[in-house]
Amino acid sequence: MKNPDLIIIGAGAAGLLASIRAAMYGQKVLVLEKMQSAGKKILITGKGRCNITNSDTIKDFITQVFPDGRFLYPAFKEFFNEDILALLEDCGVETILERGGRYFPKSEKAADVVDALYKKAIDLGVEFIFNAKVLSVEQKDGKINSVTYLIDLEEVKIQVKNVIICTGGKSYPGTGSTGDGYIFAKKLGHKIEKLLPALVPVETFDENANMMQGLSLKNINASLIVDGSEKDSEFGELLFTHYGLSGPVILTLSRKIVLALEEKRKVKILIDFKPALSFEKLDLRILRDLDENGKMKLANLFKFWLPQKAIPVFYKLLNIDLEKKASQVSAEERKKIVFLLKNMEFSVKTHRGYKEAVVTAGGVCLNEINPKTMASKLVKGLYFAGEVLDLDANTGGYNLQIAFSTGWLAGGLY
Ligand SMILES: Cc1cc2nc3c(=O)[nH]c(=O)nc-3n(C[C@H](O)[C@H](O)[C@H](O)COP(=O)(O)OP(=O)(O)OC[C@H]3O[C@@H](n4cnc5c(N)ncnc54)[C@H](O)[C@@H]3O)c2cc1C
Repeated sequence: MKNPDLIIIGAGAAGLLASIRAAMYGQKVLVLEKMQSAGKKILITGKGRCNITNSDTIKDFITQVFPDGRFLYPAFKEFFNEDILALLEDCGVETILERGGRYFPKSEKAADVVDALYKKAIDLGVEFIFNAKVLSVEQKDGKINSVTYLIDLEEVKIQVKNVIICTGGKSYPGTGSTGDGYIFAKKLGHKIEKLLPALVPVETFDENANMMQGLSLKNINASLIVDGSEKDSEFGELLFTHYGLSGPVILTLSRKIVLALEEKRKVKILIDFKPALSFEKLDLRILRDLDENGKMKLANLFKFWLPQKAIPVFYKLLNIDLEKKASQVSAEERKKIVFLLKNMEFSVKTHRGYKEAVVTAGGVCLNEINPKTMASKLVKGLYFAGEVLDLDANTGGYNLQIAFSTGWLAGGLY
């Protein structure tokens, strides 16, 4: 394309939406994408099913966003969950609503979302160049001037007045998001807030999680303990892995875990396997089971209280004679069982880093971006959208919606 009005760097969620909006406004849009096709990260979202957005109201939605979701009000007023669903529907992608307000394509295929958005952009006349790695964005006298990219080992420089940086974060670098946008932004004078992996699984010290690997528990409570005091807790689903802990409750707690680890604090996770029962109620229940099955070996009673994969860990940690009959279990031993069911402790060694983080926390400082346009306050013709910004959210379709909404707003080129 000769003399594009606008260059968009990155054909992910934000870049695709920005390109569609700008093309609808009659702009000549060129998208430079370093991978061989669009939306590589979208393809792996929601375990390949793509949790497109969430049914939350704007007010509830922004409470899921960090460090401050209020920045997104103007973007969400312009383009929110119903708008992305309507746009996809218009492109032939039907959606379904699941537990927790999560929307997915009815086909359960993330590829359908990518194909629809890409086709829409093409139909509107957007030009894509793939395998085109942008090397730098140049300014002159405070205005965007040109973009230089590498293709087939050759450097190409294009003059352009408007650029939207939609390069994503640093997580899952195999999808193309390797943090290049932060470098461009910094060179253009923007401040980058400290980058950290977010929504990331954690490694634990002992072998207990490893012994339960593959076990997924739906209704547990996990408490985060930092230097001995409780900082947060989450109820929901947890997954034990060969290295430690994962699953929604851990990913949600991970924002605070990563910060505490950065500060070299002692981090522990306490798991309550029976959050619906108080210590006293659980004690009564165990007492009843012991009474009703007095002749059974204690070891054989654990199946009433725990999934099979967790039982060997309890055997190991309890240090009680499991061969004794249920009727011979002392009150002290019973309380030990109850305590462990409500307080299994895991010391956190580290997190799994950007290669396994769902998103990147930190990014282009929001104070230097106009929330009504996504335009840089420092360089004319420069815009940012998506994860490259200092915005990240919990799981539940929130992160894609942020990328869609900020992309859409930036594409307006106000
Ligand atoms: C495993 C996983 C599952 C997830 N599941 C969900 C989910 O179900 N729901 C949800 O809401 N969010 C989910 N997310 C988060 C969500 O995918 C991201 O927040 C979102 O894709 C960010 O969109 P983006 O457009 O800002 O960046 P990206 O989608 O990462 O797109 C950035 C694009 O820029 C390109 N690029 C980067 N640098 C250059 C360069 N120098 N030159 C040219 N191109 C470049 C990249 O190749 C990439 O295509 C998930 C993330 C992961 C890792």
